[in-house]
Amino acid sequence: CLARDELSVFLESGIYRFVDSRFIFVDPVRVLNRSYSRFRVSPAGYYSRFFDYERKGLENKDCLSYGKKRKRKEKKLRCLNEKECAADQRHQVAKPLLLKAYELLLQATDLLSVTRSLNRESGSSEGRNLPSDHQLLIEHGRIWQAPLYEITLKLPEHDQSSEVGGSSFKDRVVPLFNNLVVNETSDEVEAEFLDHQYILPRESCFYMSDLRQVHNLIPAKASSGFSLILIDPPWENGSAQQKSKYPTLPNRYFLALPIKKLSHGKGALVALWVTNREKFHRFIDLELFPAWGVVHISTYYWLKVKADGSLISDLDLFHHRPYECLLLGYCYGEDVQDVKILDQTLPKDRVIISIPGDYSRKPPIAELLQEYVPGPKPGRCIELFAREMNPGWLSWGNEPLHFQESQYFTRT
Ligand code: SAM
Repeated sequence: CLARDELSVFLESGIYRFVDSRFIFVDPVRVLNRSYSRFRVSPAGYYSRFFDYERKGLENKDCLSYGKKRKRKEKKLRCLNEKECAADQRHQVAKPLLLKAYELLLQATDLLSVTRSLNRESGSSEGRNLPSDHQLLIEHGRIWQAPLYEITLKLPEHDQSSEVGGSSFKDRVVPLFNNLVVNETSDEVEAEFLDHQYILPRESCFYMSDLRQVHNLIPAKASSGFSLILIDPPWENGSAQQKSKYPTLPNRYFLALPIKKLSHGKGALVALWVTNREKFHRFIDLELFPAWGVVHISTYYWLKVKADGSLISDLDLFHHRPYECLLLGYCYGEDVQDVKILDQTLPKDRVIISIPGDYSRKPPIAELLQEYVPGPKPGRCIELFAREMNPGWLSWGNEPLHFQESQYFTRT
């Protein structure tokens, strides 16, 4: 009965909380769709990579045959270097929690029957017209003409100027790069840049620039700083696929992010995405969090599954684990009286399960973090290195409009 209640909540919200509250299943498409009324996020668009995998049978590449897996495992066991040993230890700490979450997912047959149907709902990818020029915004932001580019927002209007689809709209033309572009309305707004259309969610804004301009986001007063800072840096991993999707940066560049200056006086919850490379975990522990003034308190594991509930790769596969980490901590502001109270607010490690979308696209977990935000509510939220927008959030990066492109949506 409890499970049925959870299922109806899930169908509405896209979030399924298992009886043990450390484990949560998220359907990104359902979650994102709550931000739109005139548009729907297309499941075929969101899950395109994943369903392409299924069609091409590439899951076989991910889930190596038992023999190959065993050979790799044995090879690893024979010659793990010091860093690999540390990575393996980290994995062994996470493994019982991940296995427990996975076991609960397999028991949730009602939930799995919904996820299986995603495959059918998404239909065929044939005829889908997904953006092909993936680095359009990044490339335009780099060239000398960038300051001249403008975006046209089609703002809903009460008096009559132009008629589109029965409603009236007024164009607002503003610089696209190095400028805070705001949709302050309570409805989504369509926007146009060159021949590309974008959908901006209600009460959202973006600032599209290179890392060198990120200081422009620092608030004049700490009391108007951000209390939730979500960061998904372009870590260097040397993969050719990553290079074709977006540029990466060496670790030392992230030290320059002004996290303390961006934080609210009453402190900020900082959430940092990181892959499983030991090199990055060490850098964060020893250099990055200390430089930002962040104290690491908890880790959320994002466990990636297919629509049938199976893991996208073997849990023990050394260089291709089916999970990534979100490290959570607080940056203590000038006005924080009692650091201990903040530390105790954040629950210890958790597992978030979802079916992955496009390359490196993270599940929408903003609302799962809101309750742990310090200071006045609702908190002011910023996403650094964002590729999409959310109501109530400022999205910063060199392509925060990427997944807002109209081909990722269907009109209701
Ligand atoms: N969280 C995003 C998502 O879920 O889709 C993925 C972010 S991706 C890991 C990192 C982003 O940082 C990419 O959009 C990349 O283009 C951007 N980026 C790379 N170099 C940058 C720079 N110098 N300044 C600003 N953004 C940069």
